Amino acid sequence: MTITPEREAELLASIPKGLLINGEWRDSSDGSTYDVHDPATGKVLATLASATSEDALAALDAADKAQAAWALSAPRERSNILRRAFELIQERAEDFALIMTLEMGKPFNEAMGEVTYGNEFLRWFSEEAVRDYGRYVTTPEGKNKILVQRKPVGPALLITPWNFPLAMATRKVGPAIAAGCTAILKPAKLTPLTSQLFGQILLEAGVPAGVVNIVSSKSASGISGPIMKDHRLRKVSFTGSTPVGRQLLKDAADNVLRTSMELGGNAPFIVFEDADLDKAVEGAMAAKMRNMGEACTAANRFLVQDTVAEEFTKKFAAALSALKLGRGTEDDSQVGPIIDSGARDDIHELVTSAVAAGATVVTGGEKLEGDGYFYKPTVLNNVPNDAEILRQEIFGPVAPVTTFATEADAIKLANASEYGLASYVFTKDFSKLLRVAEQIEFGMVGFNAGVISNAAAPFGGVKQSGLGREGGAEGIDEYTTVQYIGIADP
Ligand code: NAD
Repeated sequence: MTITPEREAELLASIPKGLLINGEWRDSSDGSTYDVHDPATGKVLATLASATSEDALAALDAADKAQAAWALSAPRERSNILRRAFELIQERAEDFALIMTLEMGKPFNEAMGEVTYGNEFLRWFSEEAVRDYGRYVTTPEGKNKILVQRKPVGPALLITPWNFPLAMATRKVGPAIAAGCTAILKPAKLTPLTSQLFGQILLEAGVPAGVVNIVSSKSASGISGPIMKDHRLRKVSFTGSTPVGRQLLKDAADNVLRTSMELGGNAPFIVFEDADLDKAVEGAMAAKMRNMGEACTAANRFLVQDTVAEEFTKKFAAALSALKLGRGTEDDSQVGPIIDSGARDDIHELVTSAVAAGATVVTGGEKLEGDGYFYKPTVLNNVPNDAEILRQEIFGPVAPVTTFATEADAIKLANASEYGLASYVFTKDFSKLLRVAEQIEFGMVGFNAGVISNAAAPFGGVKQSGLGREGGAEGIDEYTTVQYIGIADP
């Protein structure tokens, strides 16, 4: 697709700018607004209503009022609505991709990939909506019966990050609708436009008033604070950084809320000497460069067996340095900008401190001069095992390489992180993969694969990476609660 300034302007003009509360788009209660920027140019893309605490409570009020009827709605009706939303998004895939490229920076083709991935959650949960099983069994003592049924947990607050603007929203809204929960979606203030368009699609698909409310705001805690104190809220599902997740868990404790926490990651990418090295480089490119490295699943620590480390590093650095940086709307752009100037400074600071600690820059290691917040794809080797860059999420196109001698060393290094989200293992030996998978503390393992996210699979982490799973058969459980009915000798 050729993207012209007119096409961009037309799409931006068509996006609702208000708050979606009780099925209507409205201004914020105090008339306040905030600007959304293009990270490739720094220019303002759109100005949105900024929800206040009063608006947040109005959204909760709408969700609460819609909850009882929505819980009793036919699963097939909820399924059909999700399916219609899936089809509408498919029809408008290019609009969704373009809006993500504009507000988040990812190249258009990658954004199209996110539309496919993100939209699958709506199709998957439209199928799961009608498959919500309970059980009816006899007690061990005989005669009496146990009836167990699942019910929607109730109004849910859904908080999403800026890096995957569509997928993070569909991964929560899809199962909430399927289970019969009403919801208040609070998108990240850096990339709310995709959620605004998503809201428009949900209304077109027939989501009843109050079932999904969208309150974007320049003040995140101004929204979550009052809603999370209110007893009408029953659940909070958050995707974002571990420090904010920890704070929300504390807030949730005060109101005894159900929680799902999809937090940070620090993925090891383990390459054994028997791996197909070309496939490993291909996997490394995907695991590192998808979303410019701004992904919770991004490979953060490249652990390569010492016998093949030199060859792997050489091939990987050559592939990375050949990538073309540019605004995501340009046809040949393969790497977009970092989300903002501060995030780019943080990435550079990690690189600088690794070099001061003894690492060597194989390629990259610097900001790109000019407009936008571009950072050159970077490979570092000889990174000391205690370097800060191996402990923190890099959230950028930087690949630190370290080496190991034995399988046991690889496992020990992989587990030397407080995080436990995604991990990657490259080997031709399936028994080795199973041995490693058994011992590494990660919620997800890619086997000779650099991208493993799939709507049909349970996505989530252990340790400081969070609680709960999104997607798969497990995803809907996060939005249901169990009711047991004890039946006397029927
Ligand atoms: P963030 O924690 O800064 O923000 C996430 C969301 O929380 C945003 O909507 C933000 O407005 C809101 N928020 C921020 N402070 C808040 C507060 N005090 N109270 C309530 N809400 C608050 O994260 P981010 O920078 O938007 O996203 C990047 C982070 O998200 C990374 O750590 C990344 O690993 C993580 N992430 C995790 C997953 C996963 O599935 N595990 C997926 C994507 C991103």
